[in-house]
Amino acid sequence: MGKFTIIGALTASLLLAACQPGPKAGKVDAVRLTAADADSSNWMSYGRTYSEQRFSPLTQVNTDTVAKLGVAWSHEFDTDRGQEATPLIIDGTLYTTTNWSKVYAFDAKTGAPKWSYDPKVDGKRGFSACCDTVNRGVAVWNGMVYVGALDGRLIALDAETGKVKWSVVTVDQSKPYTITGAPRVIKGKVMIGNGGAEYGVRGYLSAYDAATGKMAWRFYTTPNPEGKPDGAASDKILAEKAKGTWFGEGWKKTGGGGTVWDAMAYDPDLDILYIGTGNGSPWNHLKRSDGKGDNLFLSSIVALKPDNGDYVWHYQTTPADSWDYTATQHIMLAEMDIDGKARKVVMQAPKNGFFYVLDRATGELISAKNYIPITWATGVDQKTGRPIEVPGARYEKNPALAMPAPYGGHNWHPMAYSPKENLVYIPAMTVPFGYMDDGKYTHQQGKWNVGIDTLATALPDGDAARKAVKAMMKGHLIAWDPVAQKARWTVEHPYFWNAGVLATAGDLVFQGSAEGVFAAYNAKDGSKVWSYKTHNGIIAAPSTYSIDGEQYIALMVGYGGAAPLAANVFLPDRQRLPGRLIVFKLGGTAKVPEQPLAEKMQIDLTGVTSKGSVTDGFALYHANCSVCHGASVSGTYLPDLKTSPMLLSAENWKSVVIDGARQPMGMISFKDYLTNDQSESIRAYVLSESAKAKAEMAKAK
Ligand code: CA
Repeated sequence: MGKFTIIGALTASLLLAACQPGPKAGKVDAVRLTAADADSSNWMSYGRTYSEQRFSPLTQVNTDTVAKLGVAWSHEFDTDRGQEATPLIIDGTLYTTTNWSKVYAFDAKTGAPKWSYDPKVDGKRGFSACCDTVNRGVAVWNGMVYVGALDGRLIALDAETGKVKWSVVTVDQSKPYTITGAPRVIKGKVMIGNGGAEYGVRGYLSAYDAATGKMAWRFYTTPNPEGKPDGAASDKILAEKAKGTWFGEGWKKTGGGGTVWDAMAYDPDLDILYIGTGNGSPWNHLKRSDGKGDNLFLSSIVALKPDNGDYVWHYQTTPADSWDYTATQHIMLAEMDIDGKARKVVMQAPKNGFFYVLDRATGELISAKNYIPITWATGVDQKTGRPIEVPGARYEKNPALAMPAPYGGHNWHPMAYSPKENLVYIPAMTVPFGYMDDGKYTHQQGKWNVGIDTLATALPDGDAARKAVKAMMKGHLIAWDPVAQKARWTVEHPYFWNAGVLATAGDLVFQGSAEGVFAAYNAKDGSKVWSYKTHNGIIAAPSTYSIDGEQYIALMVGYGGAAPLAANVFLPDRQRLPGRLIVFKLGGTAKVPEQPLAEKMQIDLTGVTSKGSVTDGFALYHANCSVCHGASVSGTYLPDLKTSPMLLSAENWKSVVIDGARQPMGMISFKDYLTNDQSESIRAYVLSESAKAKAEMAKAK
């Protein structure tokens, strides 16, 4: 082909492109996303910009005006489980997701609903969701809205109508994979990972063509358990670096974990995508890898080329993880002066309690310092970049009461960074946890496979140990100086599981709390300058945008996630209420309707008995049920089993636990894991807890 024809063909295709109508909504492309920081009106991707700083240049709402912040509009959803999404706002339309991966579009100024989409995830998949059936939001690109559904589908919707454009299954659905994280789009490719390492899966990130849904590449974070190549982007590097870091057979049954379930960031100049990888599967390194080897690429930040998934560098925060110390937490890019040099850094506060500042071109450790009190390590060796572990922290011989807990010093709740203050605002927590080797561990397909004895943490009611643990549990909003590696100020919260953060050029930091208070703090000193009571718990991070000269702040409300399910006894005792989106602006006077509390259900258990064993039931409950239904049968964030009609007879109980009558709500049949007798013993235990609760109520009167 001669030069002339090439130019001719190019001109023709350019003309064709110019004549084709562009998308009516969701007009996001590489140019807009790369320049997103200057576009203060919109919030076009999960962390607002590719650097994921969650900092808005908007200043209308500021320390002087914030007192006038009121509700502009609100919307109530059809689910009362946790809401983790960050709403995106593009050219006047707000896109958000709710629990069970449902997608909604609203007029961002008026709140008028535009469309909604329900992927109709099978309730059964709820069993594979360690940490609630949540979703953290969508990505938008070239007229399409992308959502990762809990069952592993990646779905592209028309941004104007909500109609499905394409849908692909990104996981082996026979395995306990879930998607809760928000996709990101880089250079026309949709990046999506998954979760499931508590149950036993092999982690990876996939890239799909945004227009067609065709898979472009996949990067596995752990070696192939069968020792063969995957035909994936990770083949070469896994053979080079990861292969000799895994031992024994444990990981081969679970896939090893390392799931890429949340954080991503992108540097367009270096053309590097940063991903965070999860914990080992099972958690216990003894059970996973015979107590040997670093297990690459678990608990790491991995830098990849977005075009083809080529490996660039990695930094492992917790080698040989044995505590569920994932490094999937928020990854954030920034530029700052360190020791008199301008550095381009990547920052992370992963679960293990250290705040890391790395060079983002090379992965070199610049500094690391613990941002909360920790017990498992005394520091990070500056030369090797490895943590200096405390002997015994690995609970190989004796149980260890360690901090952080598997909840982490910081979990998925987004941080925010103010370049004005050079501070990272971390939604942190101090939670201890009893780690104990499970001597009887065997892998059970599809079930909770962590290799630690969950009975070790099953502290009885009123127990002095539980009170002592409760006293140690705290939530904090920490304003962290990443250069000095120390807190400039800290706000203490009464409960440990609080919400994600937003920082603005109005010198404000916004954060919601477990008690349901949405507050604004002065970014400089942490003084509280405004607050609003939602009457429901908050875990999501807010986003902000501007339309017709007015600044809005959008927040998803609804308590849930991992901690309220398993550790409810340490969190507010609150009835579940439908989730909401509440949008604020200066002078907003909209009323948010009251949400009446339902009467607590009472059942008469006079004469109701069980042939089961309460003692057996206690152990079985904590091995099978407590991760979702809470220690000592909570009844706070899932229906209260202590007042459930299920208890009235052995038949009622069996119809749910063994026959799966409530599968659509997420309560699967346990027939593969429990015999009828074992199930009945759990009923006997729940009956005993119900009688105890009734006696305590009578005493209280
Ligand atoms: Ca985990």
